[in-house]
Amino acid sequence: MTDTDPETLAGRVRDGDLRLYELEDHADADTAVAARRLLVEEQSGAELDATGEYTLPAGQATDTNIENMTGAVQIPVGVAGPVQIDGGAVSGERYLPMATTEGALLASVNRGCAALNSAGGAGARVLKNRMTRAPAFRVAGVAEAEALASWARDNVPALRDAAESTTSHGELREVTPYVVGNNVYLRFAYDTKDAMGMNMATIATEAACEVVEAETAASLVALSGNLCSDKKPAAINAVEGRGRTVAADVTVPREIVAETLKTSPEAVAEVNTRKNLVGSAKAGGLGFNAHVANAVAAMFLATGQDAAQVVEGANAITTAEVDDEGDLYVSVTLASLEVGTVGGGTKLPTQAEGLDVLGVRGGGDPAGSNADALAEAVAVAALAGELSLLSALASRNLSSAHADLGR
Ligand code: NAP
Repeated sequence: MTDTDPETLAGRVRDGDLRLYELEDHADADTAVAARRLLVEEQSGAELDATGEYTLPAGQATDTNIENMTGAVQIPVGVAGPVQIDGGAVSGERYLPMATTEGALLASVNRGCAALNSAGGAGARVLKNRMTRAPAFRVAGVAEAEALASWARDNVPALRDAAESTTSHGELREVTPYVVGNNVYLRFAYDTKDAMGMNMATIATEAACEVVEAETAASLVALSGNLCSDKKPAAINAVEGRGRTVAADVTVPREIVAETLKTSPEAVAEVNTRKNLVGSAKAGGLGFNAHVANAVAAMFLATGQDAAQVVEGANAITTAEVDDEGDLYVSVTLASLEVGTVGGGTKLPTQAEGLDVLGVRGGGDPAGSNADALAEAVAVAALAGELSLLSALASRNLSSAHADLGR
């Protein structure tokens, strides 16, 4: 039986006939979402009219993206650029789609893009591509731990066969053992092509773990043992990389630094050293940068990425130096940028349009090239943001710039 009226459906929850999460089984998705909104409004006293004004296909969202849906949150989206990119996977002019509620962010990245364009554009390259999953195994003691680590090193082909039997795109590249007493973590690293790959890697690793348990004395305790390391600050990602390791750079002529950025190469380089390098070192930070997370978060939201992975996306180091000609060289290297152009939130209509702005919706040809291009575009956005903010600090006009924009 299906209910077409939100009030009737909500009444069945009030009567204890249905649970809040079961509504989609008894009505179309929009009715279920409206009924849930009624119940939340009743319980909280909140008015959710704006939350109910959405255009996304609720059936698609409740099938794959969310449970207990009550509507949608709208985030303003805009563009910075266009910016000239000379990348390994993307080249030419691109607008950079960014969604945010932080006023001044797009203005800042846009100013950075203007400087990049005046300098002839930004270079960008993906340096490494490895999505990881590291299950935790229990063994009897260190002797068995050493035996398991050796066995894993010697049996990568068997682990690969099992892992790759679950996916037509994913490729197992490395298995790295880590031992702590009677705990063994096997860090599986995959090329997941155009998928961010967390589901793909998890499913593939589960199949490989069955081989480990069948062939050794180890017991699987948790499919994720936190050495992966997903959505937590972790040095392993900053050092070894996770998802895409990607870098972007530019040499900005001295006169452009003066005209567009209102400062000098020396001043930008000094701010970078004393703030991004020394200040971050003193703080014990993993992110030796000014605000890379801003560009990563805004582009993640605009293109349907997993927002919680901004944690890893912020593992970036910015360098700035004055070259022999007196021009300004700036680079940003993001160690662990997890991006995809298929799966997850990338299929939702507005997010897919964000990918279209960059020309990277869906699977690339060859597979992986679209996600590489997205990673390079994010790196260039981060570079533009770094250049702009470092310059604002160097010319001491950061607070006045925010004040001018009314924020
Ligand atoms: P997914 O949607 O689960 O998998 C991507 C799918 O796309 C695969 O089934 C793959 O098929 C297919 N595909 C088609 N064309 C492809 C191409 N060109 N390149 C790569 N794959 C292609 O997405 P995912 O990227 O693995 O995982 C992303 C989701 O995981 C997000 O929703 C995220 O929120 C969630 N997530 C999961 C975990 C977890 O622990 N499970 C953790 C964090 C986030 P084949 O595999 O058959 O090749």
